[in-house]
Amino acid sequence: MSRLGFFGSMRSVIVGSILFSMLSGCAAPRPRVFVESSSGIVRADNEVLARQVGAWLDELLPAVQSCIPYSLELRPEVWVQEKLRLYRNQDLPDEVYGFNASIGNRIHVREDAENLKLTLAHEIVHAVLDPSWETLPGVLEEGLCEWTSLRVVSQGRAGERAKRLFQSALYLGELSGKIRVSYQDAFGFSLRADSSVTLSTRDEDALPPKEALALSGGFADLVSGDLSGVHYAFGHWVVSRIERNVSLTGLHRLCQEARERGQELIPVQEILRASRLEVPVSDWQDRVLDEVGDVELCHIAVEIREDLVRGLIKGVRKSLPGELSAQEFLNRSVIRFGLVGRGRLVSLGDLPLVCDEIRRQW
Ligand SMILES: [Zn+2]
Repeated sequence: MSRLGFFGSMRSVIVGSILFSMLSGCAAPRPRVFVESSSGIVRADNEVLARQVGAWLDELLPAVQSCIPYSLELRPEVWVQEKLRLYRNQDLPDEVYGFNASIGNRIHVREDAENLKLTLAHEIVHAVLDPSWETLPGVLEEGLCEWTSLRVVSQGRAGERAKRLFQSALYLGELSGKIRVSYQDAFGFSLRADSSVTLSTRDEDALPPKEALALSGGFADLVSGDLSGVHYAFGHWVVSRIERNVSLTGLHRLCQEARERGQELIPVQEILRASRLEVPVSDWQDRVLDEVGDVELCHIAVEIREDLVRGLIKGVRKSLPGELSAQEFLNRSVIRFGLVGRGRLVSLGDLPLVCDEIRRQW
């Protein structure tokens, strides 16, 4: 299963075959249109969408299979649903965008998913993992789906990566953003002001990182709520570190070794070694932030623009001439954003969505 909840959210779940057989008596109706692509079958409520998803399936399935060692050969059926459900009266949380019904290789995706192609790729990864991966802890399985889907889907990649990085950082602790404004008008009046905004995750009760890495994942953890939105981003970060250090083949080897020892899951200590995280958990947030460069900071600023601009206006408005318009302020200021404790600052004046937000809130 997977979910990503931060500003927007995405999640998907694996619904096991036990659940499926229990509920098959009142199964959800099949979407009306049927399209057969080279790689599988797609059903949707309109033909244009079915053909589009079919084309994506043909592109993504082989791409995912070439990324994942020991991936299954399969011919999935994809249901693109207006309301995501396996059975007629099922109500899944709004942030769920897709799931994998393990019976019949069926993938369900919601037609209004924030990034439908990325959701499809994520679900394809779940679908192709062969049984030799079964000792992979749930957070890492979700992380593997996230990492691979971002590898094979280029559309919006930088922003999606930045979002996950930032969410991981917030999962590991609070952060403060700083906004620095340098204003100068034609009459020699100048102002330099710093303001800050506290950033924290909505998922404050999420299981702590080391405990989360020991979860098996799957349906039980979905129902219990142990695996929460932030764990998908965190899993993505840990898997990206493992991939850099030992490659996905190395990760698969850890799965096999755990299996040979009769262990249910890869031990946490081995995950920490493979991801080079054998340092105190209190240092992990810094490791995440080491990966935040200018591009990521700009994406973060856009994501949090509402709060950011509120902090900015609160910090400078009262010190500026009263009749000043938002556009005059923008024309005469250099506005920069960074994270407290980190030296890097990016200019917000180049980000149209942030400037629009300043005009809106002014
Ligand atoms: Zn998932």
